[in-house]
Amino acid sequence: MSTIVGQIAEIRARIASACVRSGRKPEEVTLLAVSKTFPAEAVREAAEAGQRVFAESRLQEMEPKVERTPAGLEWHFIGGVQRNKVRKILPLAAAVHAVDSLRLAAYMDGVAAELGLFPKVFLQINQAGELSKGGFSEEEITRDLEALLALPRLEIQGLMCIPPEQEEARPWFHNLRELRDLLEKSHGVSLPALSMGMSGDFEAAIEEGSTHVRVGSAIFGKRAYRVDGELG
Ligand SMILES: *Cc1c(COP(=O)(O)O)cnc(C)c1O
Repeated sequence: MSTIVGQIAEIRARIASACVRSGRKPEEVTLLAVSKTFPAEAVREAAEAGQRVFAESRLQEMEPKVERTPAGLEWHFIGGVQRNKVRKILPLAAAVHAVDSLRLAAYMDGVAAELGLFPKVFLQINQAGELSKGGFSEEEITRDLEALLALPRLEIQGLMCIPPEQEEARPWFHNLRELRDLLEKSHGVSLPALSMGMSGDFEAAIEEGSTHVRVGSAIFGKRAYRVDGELG
């Protein structure tokens, strides 16, 4: 058994255990295999092991990888979204995880209308107010959610966060879920999805309600280089 195949089996088992511990069903949690910096070959290997959902954070890397891997895989875009890339990202991505401003969302909505698409999106929340990361503050999302919900083309799934690296992640996950619950009440909407949890903390994220865990290095190994402007 290859390393990748073995790691996926192990991650799936750990997801299942975290679900048991928190009284959830494994089907409620989608495992996104984050393949950034790894070659198409690694994706094919994972796909042969039954992994269907992958994630990339840069269009330049995602486009050729989608080309070189089996059709029928689902690709999520988890990186920061540049306006000039939106037109190419939307047709490729099953969901966009880091929509970080009303301005960007409104622009995406317009492009989606031109392309005849209804993109699934997550709203990135920057809970700690980190300058190095995008995202709505709690005040901004509270103020902007109504306008976001009024965009006819965007199908808002829920919230996404990337907690500060040097801190314990669980309190941030807990906080994101509470913010989601609050927004659902105040706006009378359903925001069922929470995109949170990475290689080092996906079990805590699941216990706190995550529906989409984004796991890279625990599946594919240590990344050899950093992706500019992205997480190592
Ligand atoms: C790279 C990346 C991940 C995966 O990180 P790992 O620690 O390798 O699991 C998850 N989410 C985002 C937004 C990323 O950029």
